[in-house]
Amino acid sequence: MVERGAIADGNALRQTIFERYADFFPFDEIDPGLSLSEGFTPLVPSRMTASRLAVRNIFFKNETENPTWSFKDRGTAAGVQHAVSCGCGRIGTVSSGNMAVSVAAYGARAGLTTFALVSASIPTEKLSPIAVYGATVIRVDGDYGDLYFQSLEIGKRHDIYFINSDVPFRVEGSKSIAFEICEQTNFDVPDFVVVPTSSGGNFRGILKGFEEFKRCGLIADVPTMVCAQAAGCSPIHRAYVNNDPVISPVDHPETIAHAIENPFPPSGNQVLRKLRETGGLSAAVTDDEILQAQKELADEGIFGQPASAVPLAAVRKLRDRGIITEDHTVVCIVTGSGLKYTAVYGRYDLTVLSCSSAELEMMITEQQ
Ligand SMILES: *Cc1c(COP(=O)(O)O)cnc(C)c1O
Repeated sequence: MVERGAIADGNALRQTIFERYADFFPFDEIDPGLSLSEGFTPLVPSRMTASRLAVRNIFFKNETENPTWSFKDRGTAAGVQHAVSCGCGRIGTVSSGNMAVSVAAYGARAGLTTFALVSASIPTEKLSPIAVYGATVIRVDGDYGDLYFQSLEIGKRHDIYFINSDVPFRVEGSKSIAFEICEQTNFDVPDFVVVPTSSGGNFRGILKGFEEFKRCGLIADVPTMVCAQAAGCSPIHRAYVNNDPVISPVDHPETIAHAIENPFPPSGNQVLRKLRETGGLSAAVTDDEILQAQKELADEGIFGQPASAVPLAAVRKLRDRGIITEDHTVVCIVTGSGLKYTAVYGRYDLTVLSCSSAELEMMITEQQ
């Protein structure tokens, strides 16, 4: 039996992640009212894909069930707790999608003024869900990678707490993914955890969570972490396989997995170092492989956005290479909902039959 004293007693249905794992978070006080019940997402076992791929078991950590449909809510909730505890009345983020929506939602709930800095090229359809929460959206023309650092500087001068992709409290929030996986597997952790990686913040957080539970004796081993990237933008994978000392920027990033299209990830070197220290793995998958995996996920009943199908595509690749085998248990992090990227609908044949009510029974009979 594992000693679980480090996890708060009580009813998980009535706790926030920060209350349940309070000993693992750097908060003196928690305001549960700022929460939208982020986290506590299901770990869904595969019914088909594991046997198709001849892997002992594949689980999908379904982060699409978060309040704004991606794992970003965990880190945003942690950042907002911190911002409010510091007396900060204004928050912001630099994002082109999920993170901006998440920060806008939590900012609205906390009654904070919220700034979302987006790239000039962002399609309008992505702006509407940010605007609905009442955030101030600013399109910024210029180098999008520099904007990350510029925003932190401006934030300091103008008292705006920028909860960017891999800031410390966002990494803290992501630890809860690892904590939940430990509880959901009864502390018998999987062999591999596969994370679609862009800035590297989520990868760092999940690994940190497992490391902290191991240090407390809650789990015996830390799973092998897999950094999964899109072939069209794989700065971390590239540096890892080439044995480069540091990552270098990708010149022309191009992938359907837009949520993981950061050409020069701010936590890239940290992820690279962690991969080396822990014997982690990396993989890069093509857009075709991503779309195939998105369909396989849908066959399991889960609609993830292309970035969120990257882990499953990476599992197939590592299975083909014999690195993952029939003896292994794997967790894929399904980071965000497919509804966030409607352009992908056009890739699937939409067959709609129609008939009159008098013809309906005939129509159904014909389908059998
Ligand atoms: C942000 C995001 C990622 C990448 O996470 P990082 O912490 O930037 O590495 C992956 N998938 C989805 C859906 C995201 O929104």
